[in-house]
Amino acid sequence: MNDTIIKILYMVSCIFFIRGIKLLGKTATARKGNLYSSIGMLIACVTVLCEKEVLGSWNSTDLLANGYVWIAAAIIIGTVIGAIWSKKVQMTGMPELVALFNGFGGLSSLLVALTQYITSMDSKGDTFTCVSLGLTIAIGAVAFTGSVVAWGKLSGKKIFNKIKIPAKNAVNAVLCVVGVVGIVAYACFGADNPFGIEKIELYGIILATAAFLILGKTLVLPIGGGDMPVIISFLNALSGLAAAFAGFAINNTVLVVSGCLVGASGLILTLIMCKAMNRTFASLLFKSFGGSKKKAGTGPVKEPKAISVEDAYMILEAAKNVVIVPGYGMAVAQAQHAVKELCDKLENNGAEVNFAIHPVAGRMPGHMNVLLAEANVPYEQLKTSDELNPQMSNVDVAIVIGANDVVNPDAINDKSSPLYGMPIVNAHEARTVFVLKRGKGTGFSGVENPLFTNDNTVMIYGDAKQTVSQMVSEFDSE
Ligand code: NDP
Repeated sequence: MNDTIIKILYMVSCIFFIRGIKLLGKTATARKGNLYSSIGMLIACVTVLCEKEVLGSWNSTDLLANGYVWIAAAIIIGTVIGAIWSKKVQMTGMPELVALFNGFGGLSSLLVALTQYITSMDSKGDTFTCVSLGLTIAIGAVAFTGSVVAWGKLSGKKIFNKIKIPAKNAVNAVLCVVGVVGIVAYACFGADNPFGIEKIELYGIILATAAFLILGKTLVLPIGGGDMPVIISFLNALSGLAAAFAGFAINNTVLVVSGCLVGASGLILTLIMCKAMNRTFASLLFKSFGGSKKKAGTGPVKEPKAISVEDAYMILEAAKNVVIVPGYGMAVAQAQHAVKELCDKLENNGAEVNFAIHPVAGRMPGHMNVLLAEANVPYEQLKTSDELNPQMSNVDVAIVIGANDVVNPDAINDKSSPLYGMPIVNAHEARTVFVLKRGKGTGFSGVENPLFTNDNTVMIYGDAKQTVSQMVSEFDSE
């Protein structure tokens, strides 16, 4: 295909990406944004397939030498795996899937860079191209192994929580230096290097790849507690940046633009999440918040008080101001529709009902907003913790539905807690707190929650959907 047409098509797909990302910024236009971005991607993919030099001997009759055959095989295999996987995945499994997607993004950039290195061994290009290729390897490798660790942690794989890295900052610094040395060896030296090393470029590439693959692991392994959401959006940003550098290395504009869009939006989201979690970006990477779990005290253990749904109804019926705090357990139980019904019953009974949405409640950014929007809870009823916390002492009942870490008062009161410093929904300040959960399980951070044994807290054990539906039935039977 003509060069100019290819450039125009790449430009068109970039316009679709930019328009798509703009529309994705608002709930009401997000679906359209998704569609625009998909169209942009389709145009980009078709254009790449038409770009003759990308495919080499595209019209070869020898099937194994024909680029289209390989690409078609990859598309078919990828589509089948992707379709089965996305059909099977539960809403609660989405964060793990997103973490893996980030990892695959990083891995593909890494593979593109390594392929580029292998195919251009005889004429490696100018320093800029070589440095871009080196950075693609560095960032792609970190995004890949870091995301695999994030996936393991989100899926609750014990092995990822057990490994401890002593002096992790020193280890990371050494890996970083070794990786950079590898990139410099590849980008700046050739066969006639002053060190007399024959294959210095190859050794450089191997060194950089190995060091950055390990760095991805050592960087993410110590991060835990409530800080995983931030690191996941950071890894997402890295996968975008890796793609952008890969675009420079192989001279592909659409890859540069799309990679920059993902990288920039991922970085913005990371900074927003850091602010919401009251962490600085540097402290997140170097301090490993939440890596250690708090040890249980040695004094007498206070047991939480449990009540029945019938007793809870008596209190709810008299409540005039109710705040619902949804969390990951609501997503697991798929209780959002029942929660909306309960909300309607309470309002019909004369109560004011608000939802306190914590920025990291659930397992992905906006998780609670998505579920509650699906159940048609009006957007105006969804308030941030900052909006509701000042009024919490006037709230008659705070109903905590499958939330745990985001209402843990240790985040405010206990400096030794891995959650310390994370803003929470101050549910403990309400006159009465109902906690709906199945048992005494901890949340994602694995930290015990003193809210459950407070004098004003009562537990209503059971699956969140069943408990909320029973509450609705109590209102119906009156
Ligand atoms: P948590 O993970 O702290 O707690 C969820 C609680 O739900 C558990 O204690 C569990 O207790 C309960 N639960 C599970 N299933 C059910 C069910 N079927 N019915 C009723 N209860 C149930 O959730 P939060 O939303 O409070 O906090 C989110 C955590 O996840 C934070 O630590 C956050 O940092 C982290 N995270 C968030 C991400 C994001 O982007 N939002 C991404 C990655 C991690 P029990 O087993 O006793 O029922």
